[in-house]
Parts: sequence; structure tokens; C-alpha cells
Amino acid sequence: MSQAPSPALDERRAQLAVNLARVRSRIDAACAAADRDPAEVTMVAVTKTYPASDVRLLAELGVLDVGENRDQDAAPKAAEVASAGARVRWHFVGQLQRNKARSVVRYADLVHSVDSVRLAGALADAAQRHRDRPLEVLVQVNLDGAVDRGGALRGGDDPDREIDAVAAEIAGRETLRLAGVMAVAPLDWDPERAFAGLAEIAAGLRAGYPGAVVVSAGMSGDLEPAIAHGATHVRIGSALLGMRSTLR
Ligand SMILES: *Cc1c(COP(=O)(O)O)cnc(C)c1O
Repeated sequence: MSQAPSPALDERRAQLAVNLARVRSRIDAACAAADRDPAEVTMVAVTKTYPASDVRLLAELGVLDVGENRDQDAAPKAAEVASAGARVRWHFVGQLQRNKARSVVRYADLVHSVDSVRLAGALADAAQRHRDRPLEVLVQVNLDGAVDRGGALRGGDDPDREIDAVAAEIAGRETLRLAGVMAVAPLDWDPERAFAGLAEIAAGLRAGYPGAVVVSAGMSGDLEPAIAHGATHVRIGSALLGMRSTLR
């Protein structure tokens, strides 16, 4: 459903359309360089800090995958967009506390940021009560081993945060579906190295779980190397919506 006419909305729509065309052409060029079909790459518009009206404008422009990183913002935004009659797929991409699982499972279609056995368990329990179909989830992988950052680890001393243990918990729960992996490239790393490492982990996971085909990697600044290394989902915030005033 489109919104009531207003000059401010028209201007915003025009700006989003220009940004969208730029991002799409970057994705197309990256796919051409990697000999991939752009249809294999889903762009998730990360709308954090931006209002529900932007989500509706993006939906009118054909962007139907939307990402948020905080439940406090995402839950009311999803409700507002739904009550306006717009249908989008909500991706939860941020660090998630277990006590938010009950809220997130109500609106999220795909949770990218599952990085512990206990969080997977909390989402599975919540999905059982509050959803009528399985919740798709990705194992968020920590690529540099900095334990204070989000992400499950390869090996390490904490079984709750071990990649294979998290994957096994998800795969063992009827209310979850293990769809693949997600990572954020560490700031101080060459993104090529980060996404090559993620591709290796993704391939390892697919060997055990053939349905785990999603590789969520790449943001506004590094979508090209992510696509070169097999990203199926890129998460684009500032290149599409503008610079955020806060560091989130
Ligand atoms: C904010 C955010 C993005 C988008 O970042 P941009 O650099 O603005 O494109 C992607 N992924 C996650 C997990 C985020 O929190």
C-alpha cells in the first residue's frame, strides 16, 4: 500500500531510488567480475535508526528484505509496516539477548546472529510457542577469535559458543531451520581474507548440512569481496539509507 502523497516522502523516495540503483549496479558489477548470477545475491536493506516510512518506500521500490539489529526498534517498526499493509521479510542481524527471543520470533523471518547453543535453544523454545512455522537461522561466525565480539568460534574453550555445537543444536530442533552462516569482517582485517575464511567455514557446514546454503556477508563498504567469495546475502545500510548519526 502506498503512503499519502507528501513532498518530503517524494524527495526521500527519489533519494532512496538513486541510492538503490547505485547499490544494485555495484552488486551487478561484483557478480559479473565473479562470474555469478545477480539473482543469487539477496540485498538486505539494513534500516536500523531509520523510520518505518523508509521501509515502506523501499518496499514500493521492490526491496522486500529488511534488516534490523535491535529488538526494541524492530518490533514496533515491523508492526507499523505490517499494519500499513506492506509485506516484507524481516532479518534480525544484531546481537541478541536470550530474553528477547520471544519478541523476535514473532516478526523475524531469518535470524542471522545465532552464536551460542543457549541462544539457539531460547529461539527454538520461543518459536514453538509463538510461531506456526520454523524460524530460519544462521550461525554467526566470529572470524578473528576476539571473544568479546559476537559470533561462534572454531574450537575454543567454550562449548556454548562452538560453531559445530551451535549448528547441531539448531539442526536438532524442529522449530528452527539451519539456513547457513553469517559474519562481519573484523575491522582491522583485509576483507578478502575474512570472506575467504567464511567461505571455508560455510563449505564445511554444508558438508554436514546440505540445506545450509546461505552466506550472509558484506556490508556497504565491502560487498564486492563478499560477493567474490560466495555471499548469497549482503546487508546494506548506509549506502542505501544514508550515513547514520550514531555508530550502530
Ligand atoms: C549496521 C549493520 C549492517 C549495515 O552496515 P552498513 O555499513 O551501514 O552497510 C550490516 N550488518 C550488521 C550486522 C549491521 O549491524
